[in-house]
Amino acid sequence: AAPHSGFVVVRGKPRLQFAQLVFARQLTRLQASLHNLPQRDRLTPLLAALPGLPERFGALWLEVPDTNDGKSLSAFTRRLAPLLHERLLTTGRLVQDDALPRLHLFFPDKTRALVGISDPENSAPWEMGIARQKMPQQAPSRSYLKLTEAINTFLSPREQKTLLHHGMTAVDLGAAPGGWSWALAQRGLKIIAVDNGPLKGAAAQHPAIRHIRQDGFRYRPPRPVDWLVCDMVEQPGRIADLVADWIIHGKARRALFNLKLPMKKRLLALNEALSRLRTALDGAGIRYRMRARQLYHDREEVT
Ligand code: SAM
Repeated sequence: AAPHSGFVVVRGKPRLQFAQLVFARQLTRLQASLHNLPQRDRLTPLLAALPGLPERFGALWLEVPDTNDGKSLSAFTRRLAPLLHERLLTTGRLVQDDALPRLHLFFPDKTRALVGISDPENSAPWEMGIARQKMPQQAPSRSYLKLTEAINTFLSPREQKTLLHHGMTAVDLGAAPGGWSWALAQRGLKIIAVDNGPLKGAAAQHPAIRHIRQDGFRYRPPRPVDWLVCDMVEQPGRIADLVADWIIHGKARRALFNLKLPMKKRLLALNEALSRLRTALDGAGIRYRMRARQLYHDREEVT
């Protein structure tokens, strides 16, 4: 990894599971590294470097690092993409099939390309690993995007139907101004929104959202709920302890929460919080599945 490059090349035969990577947006298997791409004709060397196997790809994605330098390359990839698409379509190597491996051309700059292949079962299903979400006009806050991205990242469409549906209940700790509560209300859940601050806009008067002004660390629901969601700005360790307490005492079956990363020693703080949570759940004999990811719409936090 070169500092600030926005990407890492792992050598050897690593068996990386995308679902276990917290900060990586995308995971591909490197096939070739091209250097000194000529300015006049990049197409020829790129086409020559395409792997022979698999014979067909389900998608071709041209990607760049998500850095300031990388962003300036997007005009360049936008020009190149249709040319490559056309070549692969006419040769029958690109077909519409989500189950097929995808071909990735990753450009650290205009002169270099890393040619990679991704397995749809072990990578992000979005170009650049970015889950773009629509922001409805009524959404009370941009945080709405974080929760919808989290749902689309952690739950398959089938799981969304069975685990997060009409008639379920949720508690939202640190709910104001109400983006998360409103997102859950849109899915037909009933929400208790806990925050000393006011709910705003469409969340304020929503019949499915009940606002309680109380400290989110003290509040417990009278009856267990299906979901605990929590976006309070607090030390990650405190949030981890709180979530563990809810789950261990059966107050919620599932939780979706943000851990705000401190200014320094972020990875350490994150790992400490997650391992505290694991230790607590293991100690209580709870069977669980846990995933952590820094989402595209997250800031200095991990969901
Ligand atoms: N998820 C919200 C949304 O979608 O609009 C945004 C939440 S905002 C990032 C954090 C909120 O946590 C603030 O409204 C703050 O008042 C609340 N908060 C922080 N500490 C809290 C506590 N101890 N109890 C309740 N709310 C708390």
